[in-house]
Amino acid sequence: MSRFFSKRLSTLTPYTPGEQPQDRQYIKLNTNESPFPPASGVEAAVAEASRRLPLYPDPDCTELTALLAKRYGVAPENVVPGNGSDEVLNFAFLAFCDEDTPAVFADITYGFYPVFARVNDLPYREIPLKADLSLDPADYAAAGGTIFIANPNAPTGLALTPAQIEQVLQKNPDTVVVVDEAYVDFGAESCVPLTARYDKLLVVQTFSKSRSLAGGRLGFGIGCEALIRDLHTIRYSTNPYNINRLTMAAGIATLQQDEYTADNCRTIMDNRQYTVEGLRQLGFEVTDSKTNFVFVKHPRLGGRDLYLGLKERGILVRHFDKPSIMEYNRITIGTRAQMEALLAAVRDILEE
Ligand SMILES: *Cc1c(COP(=O)(O)O)cnc(C)c1O
Repeated sequence: MSRFFSKRLSTLTPYTPGEQPQDRQYIKLNTNESPFPPASGVEAAVAEASRRLPLYPDPDCTELTALLAKRYGVAPENVVPGNGSDEVLNFAFLAFCDEDTPAVFADITYGFYPVFARVNDLPYREIPLKADLSLDPADYAAAGGTIFIANPNAPTGLALTPAQIEQVLQKNPDTVVVVDEAYVDFGAESCVPLTARYDKLLVVQTFSKSRSLAGGRLGFGIGCEALIRDLHTIRYSTNPYNINRLTMAAGIATLQQDEYTADNCRTIMDNRQYTVEGLRQLGFEVTDSKTNFVFVKHPRLGGRDLYLGLKERGILVRHFDKPSIMEYNRITIGTRAQMEALLAAVRDILEE
């Protein structure tokens, strides 16, 4: 830290992204990326857009926003785009939390939430998950702050129904509820339809997981017009050009190939089923994942030992040092061949 670094931020611990090793080829099952290439047409659209790189992109993201609105059955005024959904989430912390309105989220959830709170100097409160890692909506009654719920949750993979989210909305009439649906395309039900009835519901989604664009950085929020206007106020006060030309072109081309995304999601769900069965046969406890990852632990193999054993065998998974979940690993679902390699490596480690 330099002697110039803000005193306000001197104790800030940044978010730790999953490893992105540049040295050797791993089977990467640690950051929930898609194993499939972007939709056909993305490469050509990006190449075409690159010819106009001297010009700033459209700050209103008109075409992209119109396509998203059509896809989700809302109006363009209900959509705000972000440089990854992380940016939309950060906007939401800035827009809807303050000294009297802390952020409220689960103790085991997306690790970026406490970082967003701290970097913006906002108070936050964590609500423990149940012993079985589920989130009980009753624990969020009169939460007294802006609620952030990853649904399905990460890293547990467990999903709530929209009816359960609606319970949270009804028990918190005067605060915003943000539902982070980064993984919703892998078998959970979206809360986007609820945004028509609740003016305090913001749903956030991303192109990073189901749409093979993690490297493009594209996410979006959907909510009532007033909420979205607030987020645009933050967006135009920080970076009106947050969606660059290349990403915009990639996003538009991807939305034009929605069936490709749906096919890939079905494949991932099939491969998830295959992986869950394989791991259970090997004695693992596996949560009921509605995401493109599984969250697993083994009664006779430590979480860190499994992580290191797999890494030695060229497979990267995500291990968290947090005491409550350190016996677990989060394993991204990839291609069938990748999952076969994973199961073979796990078998090898267990036999050692
Ligand atoms: C991956 C992830 C995000 C962020 O994704 P972006 O790449 O920033 O769009 C947000 N929330 C959760 C729960 C995630 O796992």
